[in-house]
Amino acid sequence: MENIKERDFNLIKEKIENCQKCPLALTRNKTVCGEGNIDSPVIFIGEGPGAEEDASGRPFVGRAGQLLEKMILMYAKRKREDFFIGNIVKCRPPQNRVPSEEEVRSCTQFLEAQLLVIKPKIIVTLGATSARFFLGRDVQITKERGSFFDWYGNVKIFTTFHPSYLLRNQSKEKFSPFWYAALDMTLIGIMHQQLSENRPVDEVINEISIKLKGSTGE
Ligand code: SF4
Repeated sequence: MENIKERDFNLIKEKIENCQKCPLALTRNKTVCGEGNIDSPVIFIGEGPGAEEDASGRPFVGRAGQLLEKMILMYAKRKREDFFIGNIVKCRPPQNRVPSEEEVRSCTQFLEAQLLVIKPKIIVTLGATSARFFLGRDVQITKERGSFFDWYGNVKIFTTFHPSYLLRNQSKEKFSPFWYAALDMTLIGIMHQQLSENRPVDEVINEISIKLKGSTGE
């Protein structure tokens, strides 16, 4: 039997499936509401669905999604189902273009409703569009990845690369984007473990910040 949290999440899902609020409704095949563990203290939010996601109705199932899944397994030592994974917009922008400001504004009412239900402690933003929404300004991920920012309440934002960027930048050398993304994912695994054990978020973030500095020599 579904609990209250699942019921509320499914009610939002139904609204997303029927949504016609922005022009992306005209070109989508399936809405992509997001999926995974709605009790997870750490969640991933990307930009929007691509072709495979639009066809299947599931987030991050194309090449970028497979890379994300692999990195979660390899570096976070977790499974993708341990996290909730969603997007800023729930319908695919044609040709995978960046969603317009108006589309983001229309759609993020759903994301905000989802976040009220999920109540994550840390939101990991994948790429610049997601980070821009949460921080309210342009973000250069190459310069600002691996950083924590305050959001509403005591919710923290942790910025990292979108896996599609890593597909285009495959060098695994030290200090390459992939190397930093692997470090971020390792720390995301630690955050997930410690927050799941109910350790206070500020304590966990302090510890992670020290590890980040130690690993990058910054
Ligand atoms: S992108 Fe969001 S706001 Fe636009 S139609 Fe899809 S669900 Fe509705």
